[in-house]
Amino acid sequence: MPHRKLQRNTPQRRVILEELRNVTSHPTAVELYELVRQRMPKISLGTVYRNLDLLAQQGTIQKHALGGAEARFDGSTHRHYHVRCDCCGRMDDLDGIYDNLVGEQPAQAVGYQILGCRLELIGICSDCRRRENTSNENKRECRTC
Ligand SMILES: [Zn+2]
Ligand SMILES: [Zn+2]
Repeated sequence: MPHRKLQRNTPQRRVILEELRNVTSHPTAVELYELVRQRMPKISLGTVYRNLDLLAQQGTIQKHALGGAEARFDGSTHRHYHVRCDCCGRMDDLDGIYDNLVGEQPAQAVGYQILGCRLELIGICSDCRRRENTSNENKRECRTC
């Protein structure tokens, strides 16, 4: 009988969540799939996508899809800002600046109730800077991506 079952955490979903929380790079579904596959060789990319979307809907993880870039996933749901590498696309957390970077008063002044804030800083990560320095100094393009 097609009765809707309560969504339980499958072993696959648990491994996906564990691997996501093990890294700080906010991987894309494909990057995470490569990690999960080392533990679960039979898992499919579709399963990873499905579970990530489900976890994001549940609020267990965050899905970041800003500016048309490929979505990246975040195992941490506390309020925090990000910096994204313009070269390889990795994202890192910027902790400790949430409260003092953006005051809520300006938006409240025009009658909004503030639910949250999405802000992304753009930069070049240390790995890419190192690569850039060792290759052509003037070339801004990353050779690995
Ligand atoms: Zn980078
Ligand atoms: Zn994050």
